[in-house]
Amino acid sequence: LGRRRHGGGRSRPPPPRILSAFPDDSYSPRTPAADTVPSYCQSPDRRLALSGTILLIEDEEAIADLVRLFVEREGFRLVHAETGEEGLARLAERDARAVLLDVGLPGIDGVEVCRRIRAGSDVPVIMLTARDAEVDKIVGLEIGADDYVTKPFSPRELMARIRAVLRRTEERP
Ligand code: CA
Repeated sequence: LGRRRHGGGRSRPPPPRILSAFPDDSYSPRTPAADTVPSYCQSPDRRLALSGTILLIEDEEAIADLVRLFVEREGFRLVHAETGEEGLARLAERDARAVLLDVGLPGIDGVEVCRRIRAGSDVPVIMLTARDAEVDKIVGLEIGADDYVTKPFSPRELMARIRAVLRRTEERP
């Protein structure tokens, strides 16, 4: 057993002095904003805010889950509706920055949903199409959609389309 020392022992040496590289305290850390945001959250031009609500109208759960994952990872909030009727109701309740709209929906189909959206809103609409025939329909009928992606689409492509459509519609001079 060691003897306990009460105070009278040798005082500890002072901690080594660290010479400051910034003697006049002029140093301040770089603004952290750009460096701490993960790269996938940054829009290429930094002006586009990746926030707000994206409305997805899609009856296939697997696609909805995948879209949610990517949309939320970029910083948006996703509101998901499984039918056109529900989607129109959601859009009436709250502002969405963009709508992702499946063409093949139970009940009223995506083409008709897009027409009804356009009757009262300029919100950007990206159609999700399953077949070439559906592409012909949305292109040929001029239903007012801003863009479309063909299933199966890569989530990366979808996110690029969303950013592009937001840039086009929100950054008009
Ligand atoms: Ca569908």
